[in-house]
Amino acid sequence: MTKWVYSFGAGNNEGRADMRNLLGGKGANLAEMSSIGLPVPPGFTITAEVTAAFYENDHKYPDDLKGQVDAALAQVEKAVGLNFGDSAHPLLVSVRSGARVSMPGMMDTVLNLGLNDTTVEGLAKAANDPRFAWDSYRRFIQMYGSVVLGVDHHRFEEIIEHAKLDAGVIEDTALTADQWREVVEGYKDLVEQETGKPFPQDPHEQLWGAIGAVFGSWMNARAVTYRRLHDIPADWGTAVNVQAMVFGNMGNDCATGVCFTRDPSTGENMFYGEYLVNAQGEDVVAGIRTPQPLSASVAKSGEIPLEKAMPAAYAELMEVRSTLEKHYKDMQDIEFTVQQNKLYMLQTRNGKRTVAASLRMAVEMAREGLIDEAEAVMRVNPSSLDQLLHPMLDPTASRTILGKGLPASPGAASGIVVFSADEAESRAAKGEAVILCRVETSPEDIHGMHAAKGILTTRGGMTSHAAVVARGMGRPCVAGAGGISVDYNNQMLSAGGKQVRAGEIVTLDGATGEVFVGSVAMIEPAVSGDFGTLMEWADKHRRMGVRANAETPLDAETARKFGAEGIGLCRTEHMFFDPERILAVRQMIISNTESGRRAALARLLPFQREDFRQIFTIMAGLPVTIRLLDPPLHEFLPHHDQEMQEVADSLGTDIATIRLRAEELSEANPMLGHRGCRLGIAFPEIYEMQARAIFEGAIAVAKETGNAPHPEIMIPLVGMKRELEITRAQVDKIAVEVFAETGTTIEYSVGTMIELPRAALLADKIADCADFFSFGTNDLTQTVFGLSRDDAGKFLPHYVEAGILAKDPFVSIDVEGVGEMVRIASEKGRAAKGGLKLGICGEHGGDPASIAFCEQVGLDYVSCSPFRVPVARLAAAQAALGAAGDRTA
Ligand code: ADP
Ligand code: MG
Ligand code: MG
Repeated sequence: MTKWVYSFGAGNNEGRADMRNLLGGKGANLAEMSSIGLPVPPGFTITAEVTAAFYENDHKYPDDLKGQVDAALAQVEKAVGLNFGDSAHPLLVSVRSGARVSMPGMMDTVLNLGLNDTTVEGLAKAANDPRFAWDSYRRFIQMYGSVVLGVDHHRFEEIIEHAKLDAGVIEDTALTADQWREVVEGYKDLVEQETGKPFPQDPHEQLWGAIGAVFGSWMNARAVTYRRLHDIPADWGTAVNVQAMVFGNMGNDCATGVCFTRDPSTGENMFYGEYLVNAQGEDVVAGIRTPQPLSASVAKSGEIPLEKAMPAAYAELMEVRSTLEKHYKDMQDIEFTVQQNKLYMLQTRNGKRTVAASLRMAVEMAREGLIDEAEAVMRVNPSSLDQLLHPMLDPTASRTILGKGLPASPGAASGIVVFSADEAESRAAKGEAVILCRVETSPEDIHGMHAAKGILTTRGGMTSHAAVVARGMGRPCVAGAGGISVDYNNQMLSAGGKQVRAGEIVTLDGATGEVFVGSVAMIEPAVSGDFGTLMEWADKHRRMGVRANAETPLDAETARKFGAEGIGLCRTEHMFFDPERILAVRQMIISNTESGRRAALARLLPFQREDFRQIFTIMAGLPVTIRLLDPPLHEFLPHHDQEMQEVADSLGTDIATIRLRAEELSEANPMLGHRGCRLGIAFPEIYEMQARAIFEGAIAVAKETGNAPHPEIMIPLVGMKRELEITRAQVDKIAVEVFAETGTTIEYSVGTMIELPRAALLADKIADCADFFSFGTNDLTQTVFGLSRDDAGKFLPHYVEAGILAKDPFVSIDVEGVGEMVRIASEKGRAAKGGLKLGICGEHGGDPASIAFCEQVGLDYVSCSPFRVPVARLAAAQAALGAAGDRTA
């Protein structure tokens, strides 16, 4: 026989907190509270397993359910000394739904069930309070009528409004017993009119009606939608709780309230909550009357705190608060009722909180000894830290919305509207805050994106160029705001009849995707002491190193400020877009002789050397991984006539020649074209120049500071061992030259990106010639799936929605496929070369789920954008602690 029903309360607790899958969160915690001696009205929980049985069996309950419910109900009757349906001393119950996770869309709670025309009289006599009895009865009909019988709840409200008008009173509480009695008559007529049947008088029929409504609500449209949006499987089902009523509406020594054991918005260790005297159920949150504070210390003038109104109940509640925190070791969200000065607990759960509160509580609870440091580290959601690392809009500031796009990169920014990267840069150079507004962005906009405070695009998704680059740079970004149009000709943004011209101010909220007209007040990120403390604790527990992807001195400084232990990816091509350099880059590409290229490269050398010198100085001896030139050359090509003319002039040729050369260089599929080490092999002088710049920069820093950097030179897009051999030889040759020229030798290593399936599969061979591997999981995802990230926006969202893919594989690593490649390469690489250093430098290096995977594979470090370094530090600690947990379990 299956056990479908679990009792709680009155010394018979069959459930426990860890049974939430079976009993739902509410039922499991009612049993738990009761078993630790807290005053919980007795009741029972019908398990969530009944849901599946009910739907599989044509909406019929398992045969033995009724018997088990009757037995449990009899126990409740015995415990409280009242009988269900008894005309003199009726037991009333509440029927409450409760799934494993709290889920809006489920049936609302029905209170005071068991009342009918007879029992209401019994209740009136027993309580010696007819007003209370009729108020309870009308509440019951109202709830049952709307929730179970589907009568529009406004129709009930109308009847009360009439009654109050007739009686000439404003507050519900001013109605007398007789006036409530009339309301009840009106309610019953309404129900009969609307449903064609009289209001059910039989308490058992009422009970099964309410139970059926809970199970029925599992499949209603609201609940189905909610589950789809939150990845909750339909087969979890919901439990149903039936519980003896206690009454907060029996007079002025009664109350009902909700509270948090600590302040859920700041995390402060203070009792936080509200109550209403002579009230029931959700009156507190319904806004009909103004709730009052719990503690005298926070009461404003005119307010009556529970501490004063009901000192005994308050004192008991304070005890409960500390008992619950000690027991659950976390902040609790509590619902309670006071009946005639006696406190009853009706619900407890771990309370929802802001990021700031979760940090503060984790740190303080560890200091109080409630939890240990490792547990504190586990308490804070790494992704949520993102919010603390960027400015936010002041929630109280007024604002005018222009439009909305995707929340592509968090943080808020205000600035003047500019429509080109060049203008962004020139105006920013004058000290103006600018917002770069583009239909979409491309690599040649990088300098403008860097100069801008924020980026707005009207096309593209979460993995569009704008979104990825903005996240990398820590710039707020709203992408794909399709409702806003960018008019380059007229230098204007327009949306819904509103227009913003170039030079006028807009504000972006990259966390919500909203765009506002004008400026909106902001709050600067407060990296408080608790934040630092938690990070220290995280660092103690993590195994993997955390580095940053950075190429500018500013990014490198940000990375260090946030605790990066080195640079995992310094993309040299980003250094080429600078206006001072791009001409030399273009000369190099356009020239079709080696000597022409060498001449152009010689002009770039001092710039690159200076770049590296700065970065090595900032990183002060920490490892710096520098990737040699990777992208297809055509990304640097001149586009419009003016640019072409400039290059032509500088080379003493004509624009037609330049155009022809540009056409020769164009590729059908640049992502799989002439890029990465293929460039270094075709044009050895490029990598030679870069290697020289690295060694000369490093030696300069060694001489200046006495602290020799250790460059890690990384060759991109290697698929064959021979490719690495050739390019490595180029680097080694330059090292010998520079060391001889300068009379100084430094340590360096040469390794490769693993970003092609062939490289992963043959990692043992490649490892022969590599000092380290760094997984370039952006390209690896593209090449393993055979999809282009620039085009994936058209179908990936559909794939995710249809469940073909669980998550966007560019955001969170596809463990099954791409992850398998990483695993194979790691194992083969290390088998061939023990202690081979392994890292990851794709976008995934800042994603907590991907970081957990990196821990499992045993990578040495993750590398992510500077602003995600704290996220990665915490996620790496959690991954290590989680893995330790798994081993001991
Ligand atoms: P929700 O899931 O929306 O929080 P609940 O099942 O917790 O719904 O019920 C809402 C409120 O109804 C509770 O906070 C409590 O005030 C009241 N309530 C529920 N059951 C009882 C009961 N047995 N006695 C008194 N009040 C109850
Ligand atoms: Mg509740
Ligand atoms: Mg790559």
